[in-house]
Amino acid sequence: MDDSPGNAGDPLTDPGPPDHLLIQTVTGCNGRCRFCPNSKTRRSIPTGRRMAGELFRTVIDQCLELGVRRFSVYLMNEPMLDPELPQRIAYIAARIRKPQYVKVISNGSLLTERMARGLLDSGLDKLKLSVQSLDPHTYREVTGLPLARTLRNIARLMELKAAAGAKRPRLEVAMVDSELARAELPAAHRFWQAQGVRLSVQPMENRAGHAAIRQSATGNLERFTGCRRLSEQLGVLQDGRVVQCCADWEQQGVMGDLTRQRISDVWRAPRYGEFRRRLAAWDVAGMICAGCRIAAAATEHDDPEQQPQPGPLFASPSPAGEETA
Ligand code: SF4
Repeated sequence: MDDSPGNAGDPLTDPGPPDHLLIQTVTGCNGRCRFCPNSKTRRSIPTGRRMAGELFRTVIDQCLELGVRRFSVYLMNEPMLDPELPQRIAYIAARIRKPQYVKVISNGSLLTERMARGLLDSGLDKLKLSVQSLDPHTYREVTGLPLARTLRNIARLMELKAAAGAKRPRLEVAMVDSELARAELPAAHRFWQAQGVRLSVQPMENRAGHAAIRQSATGNLERFTGCRRLSEQLGVLQDGRVVQCCADWEQQGVMGDLTRQRISDVWRAPRYGEFRRRLAAWDVAGMICAGCRIAAAATEHDDPEQQPQPGPLFASPSPAGEETA
């Protein structure tokens, strides 16, 4: 660990250990969401490269030592491209205790029967599934994927979970608050509430101003001046490199390499401290933070009064124009 006296105790340069880990166990995504830079990066990022098991365990073991609270097994990818995802989660779940938890965000299109059973057995705490529309045409337009398969996968997971009497994983569906989807939000809330599933509406982000999504990442976006990710979030790519945050799709802010460095050394190195200090002072010229925009706080559409109750699995009228792909 870097215990250089210049860093110790300074909340900007030495914020304590990371609160959460984002770990990319596999590269790429099978979707083509219009507001995501996946497959549109200038840097060539191949799909399907998996993190070595030894590297994965080393990262997790060090995070456990540091007391990381949230273990997110995804980062700029579709985590279910990794057939070993349930085993990776099980490795973490067996070693953590509340308030620590392990979480996955996925588009749900690869949530096969095998994956669903594996996740139910893995000890996964939270599963957030991105379903960007309940209209098949809009869904395909936004994601490049067939809606029917995703909904079938979710229904089957819920069926298996109910049959097992399992409390975990806690299931949540997410939509990005895009101009395209906004008109659908009330109906989507009603639909998912009828299934007993919470819908969360995520604020739009422009992924550090990524040029490839400039047309689609629109709305009431503001500078991301209050961002705490540099002080809270450790993002580890499939090959062990640490990126500055989950918006760094072009891998411009590489902070270290966990194949040859320890997390604590990377996290407290002068480079990280400098990035934190500059972001806090909004001295961001030349940093990707300079272009980073996020929707204003007022975009939250969740209604805390609308607590979903368990309902029949997709027994209510299916979304209009359901396709069969
Ligand atoms: S680019 Fe900078 S401001 Fe944007 S999310 Fe990353 S650390 Fe935060």
